[in-house]
This record gives sequence, C-alpha cells and structure tokens, in this order.
Amino acid sequence: MGILDGKVAIVTGAGRGLGRSHAEALAAAGASVVVNDLGSGLHGEDGTESHGPADEVVAAIKAAGGSAVANYGNASSWEDGEALVKSALDNFGGLDILVNNAGILRDRMSWKMAEVEWDAVLAVHLKGHFTTTRAAIGYWRNQTKAGQEIAGRIINTTSEAGLYGNAGQVNYGAAKAGILGLQNVLVEETRRMNLTINAISPRAASRMAGAGLTEDMASASQVSPLVVYLASDSASHINGQVFLNYGGTLKLLKSWEEVAEVNKEGGFTGDDIEAAVAKLFEHNESEKPPFIPKL
Ligand code: NAD
Repeated sequence: MGILDGKVAIVTGAGRGLGRSHAEALAAAGASVVVNDLGSGLHGEDGTESHGPADEVVAAIKAAGGSAVANYGNASSWEDGEALVKSALDNFGGLDILVNNAGILRDRMSWKMAEVEWDAVLAVHLKGHFTTTRAAIGYWRNQTKAGQEIAGRIINTTSEAGLYGNAGQVNYGAAKAGILGLQNVLVEETRRMNLTINAISPRAASRMAGAGLTEDMASASQVSPLVVYLASDSASHINGQVFLNYGGTLKLLKSWEEVAEVNKEGGFTGDDIEAAVAKLFEHNESEKPPFIPKL
C-alpha cells in the first residue's frame, strides 16, 4: 500500500530532472501519473521539442509496476493546460495532485536582456503555473459544486532566485517570485474548497542547475519525498506554505512580514519623513537597506 494509492497526479516538465524524479516518486507511492513534458531544450528554443523525455519516464514508471501516461503539451499554453487536466480525467477518471515544475532558463543581465528572453521565461514559469492550475481548480470547483468529495493538492516550484534575487536572472527571478504571488491569491480564493497549494524551492543537480553544479550538489530524488508528502492526505493541514529543500536540508520560509511601524497623525511631511524612515530601521541594524556598490 502506497500513501497515494488511487490518486491521480499531473507533473509538468516531468521528462527530466526534478520533474522526472517527482513523477517516479508519486507513481512509486501509488499515484497514476500524467507525465507532461514538451521535451524542449534548456532555453525553450523552438524546434527542440521531442516526445522522448516524457515517453522515457512513462516507460520507466511502467517498468517499475506503476501507472503513467505521457502528455507533450506546452505548459505555457492555455489550451494545453486544459488538455493536460482532461488527459488525467480521460485516462484515470479524476485529478487529485498537480505538480507545477516545468521550466527553462534564458539568463542575461537586465540591461542586455531581449524581449523574447523575458517573454519566454515568464511564459513557461509564471503563465505555465497558471494554465494548469486554472484548469485543475476549475475541475475541483465543479466537483465540489456537484457534491463530490475532493482533496486537491497543488505543489508549485519557486526558486531562491525569486526569493532572494540572483544577478543575471531578472526574468527567471521575477517569474519565480510571481509564482508566490499567484499562490497567495489562489490560497485566498480556494479557502472554501478542500485543497492545498504549497511551493517548494528546490536545489538539485540537473540540466538546469548546469553551471552551478558542484560535486556535492543534492540530487533531485532528495526533493521528491517532500512533494509526495505534500500531495498526500497526511498534509491536508499544510496550505500556502513555502519550503526550501535540498539534500538533507528542509526549511520553512516566510516573507513580507511587517517588521516595524511608525505613525503620525495627519501624515508625514517632507520635514519628518527622513526621521520616520530612520525610526523604522532602529529596531534592527541588519534591516538597513543594502549599500549600493559602484559598477
Ligand atoms: P530541467 O531542465 O532538468 O527540467 C525541466 C523540464 O521542463 C525539461 O524536461 C523540459 O523539457 C521541460 N519543459 C520546459 N518547458 C516546458 C513547457 N513549456 N511545457 C512543458 N515542459 C517544459 O530542470 P530542473 O532543474 O529539473 O528544474 C525543474 C524546476 O525546478 C524548474 O521550475 C526550475 O526552475 C526549478 N528549480 C530548479 C533548481 C535546481 O537546482 N535544479 C533550483 C531552483 C528551482
């Protein structure tokens, strides 16, 4: 008996790296998996698409005794997002788990970034999280309205580039931070439905990690147990959270908390705003704005 027996899962970008590992782990835990992958190059270049990666993962899952079907849709397409959810319903009769993972990189310093590089990365990561989510939540909402029991799970994929910033990744970091904005809103919109939406910020050796790859870089398979757990019934109380996970390290993150406040009746003026801002930083020296170096 697996903890996901009888569940149906979708994993986007599941042909390689983290997505592949998640798909295999979900299947090993008993879920039937729709393995989505466009089979694109690392940069999402046109003409690099291939069915190979998704087919290979489906074959591996089946060889291990699991249940899976391939889907070659583009996560950034509204239509393909709908078709992906439909594939789960047609092949396995329902949907319980959506893992948004597909991604590409087009790194460039902001002043050199081309419009096409910005658009491509925002499309795959941010829009790519929403096309699938919109279709899945639509399905779960209809089920709920029809009086059917649901226990939906969405697991999003953010990154430290979005959480903390990383030079050369303005498109990627904005998309990854945007995914958390998306999550915050969706959590509010779905409070009356039995579903949870959480995000992981992974680190793992993969094609994407490429340049940052080090000998001791954690493996993708070390991140997947968190995905399986968040997808399970045991995690029904965990909603709207963000986890950082790599190797043997697991962290719970929280941001955008109010850290200090000053008030003045009638509002601040040009004469007292500087002192008011200074007061905000009094409580904690480390909150001071960073020194901006000369370039
Ligand atoms: P990867 O390149 O190994 O795999 C990504 C997969 O997504 C590829 O198989 C690719 O074909 C697929 N894909 C790309 N565009 C797609 C699209 N439009 N529709 C469907 N599939 C598409 O990368 P990875 O390292 O496994 O990254 C997986 C996720 O984890 C990404 O969202 C990435 O941003 C995130 N992430 C990874 C790391 C890391 O250390 N590897 C760190 C932070 C975040």
